[in-house]
Amino acid sequence: MPAEKEFKSYVKNIWKRQWLTNHGPLANTLELKLKEYLSLDHLLYVTNGTIALQLAIKALNLNGEIITTPFSFVATTSSIVWQGCKPVFVDINPDTYNIDATKIEAAITPQTTGIIATHVFGNPCDVDAIKQIAEKYNLKVIYDAAHCFGTRYKNRSIFEFGDVSTTSFHATKLFHTVEGGAVITKDPELLKKMAIMRSFGYSGTDTFSELGINAKNCELHAAMGLCNLNHVDEILQKRKYLYQHYLIRLNRLGVKFQALQGYTDYNHAYFPILFESEELMHASKTKLELSQIYSRRYFYPSLSALPYVDNVSMPVCDSVASRILCLPLYHTLTLSDLDFICRVLLKDKNLKPKIKNFGVLIAEQVESGLDHISA
Ligand SMILES: *Cc1c(COP(=O)(O)O)cnc(C)c1O
Repeated sequence: MPAEKEFKSYVKNIWKRQWLTNHGPLANTLELKLKEYLSLDHLLYVTNGTIALQLAIKALNLNGEIITTPFSFVATTSSIVWQGCKPVFVDINPDTYNIDATKIEAAITPQTTGIIATHVFGNPCDVDAIKQIAEKYNLKVIYDAAHCFGTRYKNRSIFEFGDVSTTSFHATKLFHTVEGGAVITKDPELLKKMAIMRSFGYSGTDTFSELGINAKNCELHAAMGLCNLNHVDEILQKRKYLYQHYLIRLNRLGVKFQALQGYTDYNHAYFPILFESEELMHASKTKLELSQIYSRRYFYPSLSALPYVDNVSMPVCDSVASRILCLPLYHTLTLSDLDFICRVLLKDKNLKPKIKNFGVLIAEQVESGLDHISA
């Protein structure tokens, strides 16, 4: 959270203006500042990352089948079902944990209208391959970029990719507005449509040109966002520093790290480690908890096991989801706490590496990380 004083300075003016919601000055300023910070032409601030997905699906008129990933937060799949569409799962890449683009074509049927993929932990999907497939089959692409604040791919914000990108500014995300989210598109017509849909379908004072919903956000949330935006550079830097320290400390551990997509400036949003077995993951989680360290099984379970979808076996995803753990990572984490977390894991003899160089790309990541470490 930002300093209470900083937040209060914005709140004082809300009391003066008595303007709480409906595209108030703070919400508008936040939109402008986010576009500026992320170098985007368009962005709409909305209620949350789930509504952002629903708005995108609706605005793109997706129906029938939507190809999607089983390795994401539940909202990626539930939004598809909520909009009356059928999720068709395609398994993930075992190293990046993103949808395996080489398996998408085989899942396309005459009913397929779109692809919704998640940039898992802020690591870009194979956006170039997905774009090619989408163009060949005339499909729309939505990226769930809820983890992606600050990630850049080929020198552009990852939010620029896909017909629509959605993101979340939930309190647990790298940049947050308590609750909040955004939809991003490069298409001005689509932007206009989503702006109207966001506000009940109002296209004038007493006119409705679209079916709409209430997807607006409010001044208090925008105030939180403006405060946090003032510190986001520092937050990104600190996370990178902590992430690189984790990599170096845990390099001797028999776990695998997420392989990052090439040409990526990563935002270091999460630090997942993949164990060789589910038992080892459980044992480590328990050991960490005994030291009051709370890791999270994220994402677990595989979304293809949800009770309201056709359950299909996704061997790679099922395996990754059962063995993955995200370690604590937040910008106020101290180096001594991080060291303590690593020591708890390193003490475990069962986690000695059996397979040499288990972590893909690890040497390279550690090397590039060394530049940033002064201690
Ligand atoms: C957080 C998250 C969401 C949902 O965002 P909310 O703002 O909480 O509604 C959707 N997808 C992913 C991948 C997320 O991590």
